[in-house]
Amino acid sequence: ALDIGHDLGRVVLNARSFEREHRLVEELQALDVYKGRLIATVSHELKNPLAAIVGHIEILQDEETGPVVASSVAAIDRGARRLARVADDLLLLAKVGDPDHPVVPRPVDLGDVVDDVLELQGHSLARKGIEVVVEKPEKPVVAMAELEEIERLVSNLVGNAEKYTPAGGRVTLCLAVEDGEALLECTDTGLGISPADQEQLFQEFFRSTNPVAQAQPGTGLGLSIVHRIVARHGGRTEVESQLGRGSTFRVRLPVAG
Ligand code: ADP
Repeated sequence: ALDIGHDLGRVVLNARSFEREHRLVEELQALDVYKGRLIATVSHELKNPLAAIVGHIEILQDEETGPVVASSVAAIDRGARRLARVADDLLLLAKVGDPDHPVVPRPVDLGDVVDDVLELQGHSLARKGIEVVVEKPEKPVVAMAELEEIERLVSNLVGNAEKYTPAGGRVTLCLAVEDGEALLECTDTGLGISPADQEQLFQEFFRSTNPVAQAQPGTGLGLSIVHRIVARHGGRTEVESQLGRGSTFRVRLPVAG
C-alpha cells in the first residue's frame, strides 16, 4: 500500500511538472509571436519616414550647392539608405519567422535567380577585383519555392561572400540536383569562419568577433534570414569553412517536379 501511495505521488508530481513545462512552452511561443509583431511594427514605422528622407535627399542632390553641403547630403544619403536596409531586413526577418504566413511555393529556376542577383551585385564584386564563377548543369535546376525569398537568400550569400573576401579573391556559385534536392552552393576564398563562430552563425544579430570581419558594415541579420527562409521551405543550410581559406554555404531546397 505504501508503494502504491509513493508511485501515485510520483505520477501526480510528474503530471504537475509536465503541466508547468507545457505552460512555459506556451508562454515562450506567445513571447515569440509578440517579438515578431514588435519587430514588424517597428520596422514598418521606420520605413515611411525613411522613404520621405530619401526622397528629400534626392531633391537636394539635384540642387546646385557648395561642396560642403553636397558632401553632407551624400553622408545623409548613405546613412538613410543603410537604415532603410536594416528596416527591410527586420521586416523580412519578421515575415519569414511568422508561422501564420507559410510559403506559397512555385517552380523557381535557381539559374535565373543567380543570373538576376549577379546582374545587380556583379559590378560591385568586379569593382573589388573578385572573380565570379557560375557552375550549373545544362538542365535547369528548379526548386519549389517562393521567388522573392530565394532571391533574397542568394543575394545575402553573395553579398557576404563579397564583404568577407579580400580583393583578388573568387566567388563560385554552383547549382546541382543531388539526392532529389535542389542544391545551391556559394563558395568564397575569403576570411573563413572559426568553428566557434560557425555554431552561432545563424542566430539573429550574431557578428563574428574577428576584427577584419567587423570592419565590414552589417547587422548580423543576413544569415538568420537565410536560415529561416531555407527552414520554412523544408530545406537545410550547411556551412563548411576554414579560417584564412574561405567558406562554402550549402543550401538544399525541395526540387520541383
Ligand atoms: P552581417 O554580414 O550583417 O554581419 P550575417 O548574418 O550575414 O550578418 O553574417 C553573420 C556573421 O558571419 C558576419 O558578421 C561574419 O562575421 C560571418 N560571415 C558571414 N558570411 C561570411 C563569409 N562568407 N565569410 C566569412 N565570414 C562570414
